[in-house]
Amino acid sequence: GQWVYRFGDGSAEGRADMKELLGGKGANLAEMAALGLPVPPGFTITTEVCTYYYDHDRQYPGSLRADVDGTLKAVETSVGAAFGDTDNPLLVSVRSGARVSMPGMMDTVLNLGLNDETVQGLARQSGDDRFAWDSYRRFIQMYGDVVLGVDHHHFEELIEIHKEERGQDLDTELQAEDWKILAGRFKDKVAEVLGHPFPQDVGEQLWGAIGAVFGSWRIDRAKTYRRLHAIPEDWGTAVNVQAMVFGNMGDTSATGVAFTRNPATGEHAIYGEYLINAQGEDVVAGIRTPQHLTKAARENANHAGGNAGPSMEESMPDVFSQLSDVFVRLETHYRDMQDIEFTVQRGKLWMLQTRSGKRTAKAALKIAVDLASEGLIDEKTAVTRVEPAALDQLLHPTLDPDAPRDLLTRGLPASPGAASGSVVFDADEAERRAKAGDRVILCRVETSPEDIHGMHAAEGVLTARGGMTSHAAVVARGMGRPCVSGAGQIRIDAKAGVMTCGGRQIAEGDVITLDGSSGEVFVGEVKTLQPELAGDFATLMRWADTYRRLRVRTNADTPPDSKTAREFGAEGIGLCRTEHMFFDDNRIVAVRQMILADDRAGREEALAKLLPMQRDDFEGIFREMSGLPVTIRLLDPPLHEFLPREDSEFAEVAAAMGVDAKALKDRAEDLSEFNPMLGHRGCRLGITYPEIYEMQARAIFEAAIAVTTGDGDPVEPEIMIPLVATEKELSILRGHVEAVAEAVFREKGTSVPYKVGTMIELPRAAICADRIAGAADFFSFGTNDLTQTTIGISRDDASRFLDPYVKMDIFPQDPFVSLDVDGVGTLVSMGADKGRAVKPDLKIGICGEHGGDPASITFCEGLGLDYVSCSPFRVPIARLAAAQAAI
Ligand code: PEP
Ligand code: MG
Repeated sequence: GQWVYRFGDGSAEGRADMKELLGGKGANLAEMAALGLPVPPGFTITTEVCTYYYDHDRQYPGSLRADVDGTLKAVETSVGAAFGDTDNPLLVSVRSGARVSMPGMMDTVLNLGLNDETVQGLARQSGDDRFAWDSYRRFIQMYGDVVLGVDHHHFEELIEIHKEERGQDLDTELQAEDWKILAGRFKDKVAEVLGHPFPQDVGEQLWGAIGAVFGSWRIDRAKTYRRLHAIPEDWGTAVNVQAMVFGNMGDTSATGVAFTRNPATGEHAIYGEYLINAQGEDVVAGIRTPQHLTKAARENANHAGGNAGPSMEESMPDVFSQLSDVFVRLETHYRDMQDIEFTVQRGKLWMLQTRSGKRTAKAALKIAVDLASEGLIDEKTAVTRVEPAALDQLLHPTLDPDAPRDLLTRGLPASPGAASGSVVFDADEAERRAKAGDRVILCRVETSPEDIHGMHAAEGVLTARGGMTSHAAVVARGMGRPCVSGAGQIRIDAKAGVMTCGGRQIAEGDVITLDGSSGEVFVGEVKTLQPELAGDFATLMRWADTYRRLRVRTNADTPPDSKTAREFGAEGIGLCRTEHMFFDDNRIVAVRQMILADDRAGREEALAKLLPMQRDDFEGIFREMSGLPVTIRLLDPPLHEFLPREDSEFAEVAAAMGVDAKALKDRAEDLSEFNPMLGHRGCRLGITYPEIYEMQARAIFEAAIAVTTGDGDPVEPEIMIPLVATEKELSILRGHVEAVAEAVFREKGTSVPYKVGTMIELPRAAICADRIAGAADFFSFGTNDLTQTTIGISRDDASRFLDPYVKMDIFPQDPFVSLDVDGVGTLVSMGADKGRAVKPDLKIGICGEHGGDPASITFCEGLGLDYVSCSPFRVPIARLAAAQAAI
């Protein structure tokens, strides 16, 4: 193969689409050169050489040396200088460049080709002794550190000692003579540490640097970075060798970095910084404060009370205007916002790098829509340009990035958005204070369904325990409340009204701020910014919808949540969890009465109280959804969530039932389970207490008829049976639902169409889906329970070990957040196939939390499912992810 690719002088052997072979930097340097932009000439040694190098015990391919020598000759001709020449030396940079950028992970050597003789040539050529000796000492320092392994602190120490001797404070005060002395001391230090002298042979220098760059692919920090960013080990890096240009040759020289659009806001204006008389790393190192590129940015900064020096537009107007032209050409060519590095050497502009610039979600959105309006990309491409997960940042309030903050601790980013408020430890108190107009943050060890009203009243929720699908997390996401869960360092003493964390105390009433997008908790109030949902957001979502095949529904249990979801574009309800309606203050007593009754009569008495309330709930939801499909899941309570705990709660229920509190406690004791999530829940409850599901079915049909025959759109309810493991369970319960339907239709003298389906959330259900499909009109994969039961990890307790599991790459990600495709995904795929084999038009969706996760949505698109259902605030994310999956 070809090991070396040349670029420069208006042509190149490589192209932008050869990133696998040339790395990102090399491919884009080639592309810019071929476009005729001013790129210092050079060449790229391919990533295949890196692979060869590691496959062959760190040897290079046989012809590499000859290829490099030959190409270097071409560079010499182009520059008009020679490598190692004592009169007119060519200097080069040697840089790594993998397929994707790995900032700061691998090594770079600048000014290579300097030695005791060529430094004199450089001094004569440049007419600047100080520049030449400064360059030489920088080279010894960098090469010594990166290639020879002589730690940079040795060199810095020598500089400090020298400055002290001379009574100087700043590097800029050092003169040619000083740098010359230091270059000598640097070489002595290298010889002292290594036992042999600093290499004077420029060929040896070059191969040393190439070897160091290839070697840096396998250093620890690069390996760690790759692991964190899922970059394969076998990609390898390319090496770019390029003629040096100097931004530090006096006041007509400069170096800078720029974005062609503002990467924070997306605004269509050049955004960047430059430094006169400096080398690239000076801008990054922050030793001197860089100046703005444009006059407008400089004026803005000064209006805001800054003290910015002249912009490049003002100090170097000709070069600036060339640079602006280059920006336009690059954007038109790449059809995206670019992140650029450039150098001006004595008034001449050189481009050193371009790549697609990283940007905030807000900027990504604006840039995608703007580029489409400017005709640079089409709408379909614009849809692919915004990361769906990044929309989270846009749908919720965010912390003002400029606001000061005081970090208390970190937990899991359970529900996005930022909120501040006073700490309360009790749901009732949260509600009381909120009614009085306070903004509160509910802080609990963990939440239970009894806390729902408090969570609703609070601005945000903080828990010390619980994972990403813990009760608090699921409910908070559904309500759009920011939530940090599993903040394990926090100790809550609700009775004493304090919580402690890392030696700090927060008392009830103290203000804290949560960032549910990052999992951070701050002491005091941190300023937040409000989301903007019209404009570009609406435009991009409209475009996305034209490419989407999957339907997007929502998990919503109340009319307000349904409303929010519809505003975000939900096309129906995929999961209405009826148990969430049971925690209302007026109902919980009746619900407990139903659970604790010892016989059917007792249960029916309680159910009679619940029926009208459930009917109202469903009517409200049907109306809000105006004829869109609504899937209502019958009761699926792990019973422990409903049982009374406090004496006062037992007393209340006992009074309502007219029984003795002691007897009631015994009954609760009987009902308590070791493993409630695998206990008397889901359809098992409907099988043993048919009257519960019958009441719910009746409420659904009566509500559907009321809305349909009243002023509402016709309703076709979809009744869903949870936690089914066998076809028998489903056919029995289906029979009960059908009987209720007939009875209600007869009573009302009218009927509505309806469906009965099931959740597939147990492995057996997926495995036996063909049999289950016989009794089902639709399937909805409950991937929360399916994950819990397939992997055998508790969704409520997993946070304790999931973090190390993910860090050790046992799981690539939290399987409750992103579907475990190999395991759980295989069951989903099997269930869908088996179901469709029996019923080709079986409607199939997914309603676990994964329904709002982009990678899981891509998987669902691949299976050809009909819809995904997710919490209201994730609906836009799901719409965009589904569109991208279909493109
Ligand atoms: C599920 O198990 O995936 C599901 C959607 O139901 P729940 O989260 O209510 O158990
Ligand atoms: Mg479930």
